[in-house]
Amino acid sequence: MSKLAAFGGTAAVPKDQRRVDWPLIEDEDRKAVLDTLEGARLVSNSDGANPVSILEEHWARRFGFGHCVAVSTGTAALSLALAAVGVGPGDEVIVPALSFIATGLAPVHQMAVPVFADVDPVTFNLDPDDVERRITDRTAAIIPVHLHGAPADMDRITDIARRHGLAVIEDAAQAPGATHRGRPVGGIGDAGAFSLQVTKNIPTCGEGGLFVTGNAELAESVRRGRQFGEVIESGRERDYVSYGLGWNHKMNAIQAAFTDAQLTRFDAYEDARQRNVADFLARLAPLPGLRVPTALPDTTHAWHILRFRFSPAAFGLDPARPEALRSTLRRLLRAEGVPMSQYQLMPLPDQKVFVDRVGFGDGHPWSLTGTPRPAGEDHPVARAVIADSLTLQKRHLHPGSGDLLRLYADAFEKVWANADMVTTLAEAAS
Ligand SMILES: *Cc1c(COP(=O)(O)O)cnc(C)c1O
Repeated sequence: MSKLAAFGGTAAVPKDQRRVDWPLIEDEDRKAVLDTLEGARLVSNSDGANPVSILEEHWARRFGFGHCVAVSTGTAALSLALAAVGVGPGDEVIVPALSFIATGLAPVHQMAVPVFADVDPVTFNLDPDDVERRITDRTAAIIPVHLHGAPADMDRITDIARRHGLAVIEDAAQAPGATHRGRPVGGIGDAGAFSLQVTKNIPTCGEGGLFVTGNAELAESVRRGRQFGEVIESGRERDYVSYGLGWNHKMNAIQAAFTDAQLTRFDAYEDARQRNVADFLARLAPLPGLRVPTALPDTTHAWHILRFRFSPAAFGLDPARPEALRSTLRRLLRAEGVPMSQYQLMPLPDQKVFVDRVGFGDGHPWSLTGTPRPAGEDHPVARAVIADSLTLQKRHLHPGSGDLLRLYADAFEKVWANADMVTTLAEAAS
């Protein structure tokens, strides 16, 4: 049994092998950016084909979406999607209690109230039973998030939405390429939102987002919404008339060109990633008290983030205090060179903006609807997942990370070989 790095042993992952860059920037990405600077088509309303319209076309074709509208960020794509389906003041939108903050903020941008539903303990995505329990006569939409790249249970969510007449906007920010029964996520509900922010699986060199839908009217509504409510069509002179409420959420042409270049390598990257992650998880799966991420049957996980849950009971620890084990494992694995971290420090409903109801003055939009249950007493599964899990992010996205993941697996095995020490440290910490 080798000595843990936290106590002076040799780290499983040598220091000079820890660095991994993401995004991967190749000459063709640099060329795409420079060609755009030379091309005089720097905004999405340039007449004719421009880098933004080209990315929209390629993204729709690669994944099989009817329409794609490029916007400034993933958050803007969510907000515009909600606006397009008619979500407005006083409406309620059901979102998962475990997600990135943007999923909860987007409804508020439309003066709607986010209603948080609990998540499934295995997929970390919306629990359809809890969604159903939280539907009221104000509910207008559901935002399932394909968290970490794992498809949500779209069969049950679309069924609930159909029975109650609700719109479904998929937050696919973490899941380009993930599929559900052979269909691309983002294209199963009424509309979907992707993010091209640099840490995502298909990045740009900054910020970007994509709205997708099979519905031409929704696409047109988002196209107007991204540019001041104007109608912008190829061959038609811009008339500067705002036909509806609009924002300025246009995508930058340089960023579109960069992502378009990345998209041409996505399939090769994705093949390598699927292989690397499968090998890595196969090595970790036998370790007692460690639950590796999985996906629902007949779905493809896009592995944006790898989340591992730890069982205190397997280490002879008090199951009521999972945080002690989590922080002990975090410390020991980081010492070995595995950058384990928490993803989301609290459930979304505990975020200050929602607890304090900081919206549009005077408690709007929340003052229009009922009082939520107090924080801390709700969403037991989201709370449990945050308390007993850690994540691995970004480095495994690199297609060449197979060797690094083997070293990470060595580190996990080494820490697990010292399970007695883990127990002693966790007991002392609790
Ligand atoms: C990144 C992300 C967003 C927001 O995307 P931005 O492009 O950063 O605005 C929304 N939802 C989820 C789940 C995300 O991970």
